[in-house]
Amino acid sequence: MADSPDIIVGIDLGTTNSLVAICDERGPRVLNDADGQALVPSVVRYEDGRTIVGRVAKEQAAEFPTTTISSVKRLMGRSLKDAQNDLAYLSYRVVAGERDTARVAMPRAGREPLLISPEEVSAAVLRRLKEIATAALGREVTRAVVTVPAYFDDAQRQATRIAGRLAGLDVVRIVPEPTAAALAYGIGLGRAAARNQKESAVVVYDLGGGTFDVSVLKLTPGSDESEPFFFQVMATSGDTHLGGDDIDHVLVGLLRRGLGIEDDAELSASMRRRLLSLAEQAKIELSDSDTARVRIEMEQGGEKEVVITRAELETIAAPFIDQTIRSCEAAVRDALGKPLAELRAGPVPAIDAVVLVGGSTRMPLVRRRVAELFGLEPYIALDPDRVVALGAAVQAAVLGGQAKGTLLLDVIPLSLGIETVGGAVAKIIARNTMVPIKATEMFSTSVDGQTSIRLTVFQGEREMAADCRKLGEFHLRGLPPMPAGVPQAEVQFLIDANGVLNVSAVERRSGKRASLQVVPNHGLTQEEVDRIERESLVHAREDMTRHRIVDLIANGKLDLKWVGDALGRVQGELPGDVRASVETAMTNLRELITAAESDWRVVDATALHRAKEALDRASVPVHEVAIAHSLRGTQAPRQ
Ligand code: ADP
Ligand code: MG
Repeated sequence: MADSPDIIVGIDLGTTNSLVAICDERGPRVLNDADGQALVPSVVRYEDGRTIVGRVAKEQAAEFPTTTISSVKRLMGRSLKDAQNDLAYLSYRVVAGERDTARVAMPRAGREPLLISPEEVSAAVLRRLKEIATAALGREVTRAVVTVPAYFDDAQRQATRIAGRLAGLDVVRIVPEPTAAALAYGIGLGRAAARNQKESAVVVYDLGGGTFDVSVLKLTPGSDESEPFFFQVMATSGDTHLGGDDIDHVLVGLLRRGLGIEDDAELSASMRRRLLSLAEQAKIELSDSDTARVRIEMEQGGEKEVVITRAELETIAAPFIDQTIRSCEAAVRDALGKPLAELRAGPVPAIDAVVLVGGSTRMPLVRRRVAELFGLEPYIALDPDRVVALGAAVQAAVLGGQAKGTLLLDVIPLSLGIETVGGAVAKIIARNTMVPIKATEMFSTSVDGQTSIRLTVFQGEREMAADCRKLGEFHLRGLPPMPAGVPQAEVQFLIDANGVLNVSAVERRSGKRASLQVVPNHGLTQEEVDRIERESLVHAREDMTRHRIVDLIANGKLDLKWVGDALGRVQGELPGDVRASVETAMTNLRELITAAESDWRVVDATALHRAKEALDRASVPVHEVAIAHSLRGTQAPRQ
């Protein structure tokens, strides 16, 4: 809590970007700088004895290639010899310091280069994060949990601690990045989750810009009350030079050929740099759309456009993803002693959850391939750039006792549902339901020819969406046009033992599907849950009536439309008195609906219900004639 003297922050000290986060009773959140930015590029420039850190240093990197230090994490705690393979990727000079430790050689006009240790460079980044946290929390921050890759050895971990100390931060614990990612999702923290996962493993798949690693974790009972369980890293695999950047480089070739330039040697250095950045932008765009239009300014003047499709990108990316899949198989075999295929065929699930980390896991191809491999929907609800920092904050809160009152329950504290036409919420899972739990419900369209359905997920006890908390929305798209009410969208809510909610929708006729994943408890405190419960009691009566009226309006409108349509088709085939009584019933219902739509309070729900029933009764003959009519219509003509 904000004024406890013992606040501990969580820090993801990344190769490319770093972040600082905090966890309180609301759950974990990343802290922003004064400009509202959370990501601090892990880039430092040395200039006349001062340092420029983060975004500015990154933006100006091309201007100062020899004094701008990036990816220094690759040098932490390593000898020059060990770091040899990484040097080709660095734009600055690295030399051997004492005991062959890697040192950055900073050029100085007319003097010997200044040797800077990787710890000092990392300390500059940590100092910046400490400033951000201190400003955001309004108090001095001096303690932190810092994450490192699972494969970091003692020397690399020690170097990370030293970097903290140089920045004025007491590093209270070093946590493996995959462990942090699992903690961010609350894996192992709830009692149900801990019970559930004692026997099974968690896989963390981290695909960034330049590195890939996969870890298999196992929850192990701890020794004392404060930490009943902890994660053990059972195996890791990966490639420290595999990531989104590789895909960008191959995409550059595609763009070049699209421009009609056959030979890579014909590209100028500046053109190649520009194409690389356009390739990355196109790749990112293709995570959300099927095609990307890339406009390229030509050096000889003019502009050309190259269109790249997602299918083309996936063909390029496939070999890289194949390699990550092989690593996953290797890590699982190492950790669990059996091939994944054999484990998947077993009677009990051997893998409980798969967590995705790193910007490149936003690619649909990655999500698909990982889901196929493990036969599980991977965890994607938390931003893959932030999940490690969030988890570091969760670990910090556990150590510092900041997370007291966090919602780590075996039951769903608040109901979950979907907004329906008219703004009411159809509850799909009621509060106080035990996890894990699965529930489904059918939804349809309200307008003829609708080709997409928006599904908005709400949490709360009130009946109207406006009085609940919105968790997210998604669209079921590409439906063939059908009359209102005909499409059948089956919406499934699935909450697993960790409290992660997967909402998926399938339209039966077209087979179209879409889904959304969220962690409903994040951002919510026990106090708020109690308040929401109290308020729902106060409004219960009024809310029920309103929900009923809203549903009657929606159903009544569909009835009016159906009867109106049928009436149109059977023109002249109905006796005059039947027709007149149907029209009267329609007018009555329509008037009540119009009134209720302007103010639901002026209409009595029972009156509305009666008017709807009256129309149903009066229109029976219409439907009979209409059905006979349509049967006649479908018969084959006599020859
Ligand atoms: P690192 O762990 O190496 O610091 P990150 O986890 O920040 O890297 O991931 C950076 C990589 O993610 C880059 O290659 C970037 O192009 C890629 N990336 C970011 N957003 C997307 C996206 N929406 N779709 C595909 N790739 C993305
Ligand atoms: Mg990363």
